[in-house]
Amino acid sequence: MDDRAKKMRAVKKEVEALTRSPLCQERIKNEKLPVVGEGALDADIMLIGEAPGKNEAITGRPFCGAAGRILDHLFLSVGIQREDVYITSIVKDRPPNNRDPTPQEIADYAPFLDRQIEIIQPKVIATLGRFAMNYILERYGTPEMIRPISQNHGKKYKIQMTYGDIDVIPLYHPTATVYNKTVRKDLAEDFKILAKPNQPIK
Ligand code: URA
Repeated sequence: MDDRAKKMRAVKKEVEALTRSPLCQERIKNEKLPVVGEGALDADIMLIGEAPGKNEAITGRPFCGAAGRILDHLFLSVGIQREDVYITSIVKDRPPNNRDPTPQEIADYAPFLDRQIEIIQPKVIATLGRFAMNYILERYGTPEMIRPISQNHGKKYKIQMTYGDIDVIPLYHPTATVYNKTVRKDLAEDFKILAKPNQPIK
């Protein structure tokens, strides 16, 4: 097993055993699975969502339910193969009834995400929804980057990581497109940036 796979396995094992987290305790009680992430460990693009939903907690795979179908459609529309990217979320255990993750839950699970970023060393991070956007921009960006998602979606921020400069692209969460046509159009348009990462943004 190569170094990346070994390190990712260690992350998975620690998430599985995070019994100080109430979400982990719930998961164990309900005999569900944590969702650590899926995809190429040497991916150029990393997609970061919010937290697993019901289907994800049953299968242990990210974005395999309704939000995943929207995501698959978006990948197809821009010619990106899902298995070429790495997909994960900030919080690795499902919050009950799909409620928003709390600041404490984000604090509990985000160190795993930080390690995953260091393992994969993506050239592009696309955040899905405001929780992932806020976490990544607050953790790695500068204060001017912090704006509402309605103003920030589809922008491309150069951010310095330990391993080099990367682009961070905030995107709407796929679920936000379900009842909002404008958001649906915006996300479809913004997704094209992922397929052409070197093109400047208007
Ligand atoms: N929403 C997310 O943010 N992550 C998933 O894995 C599924 C739905």
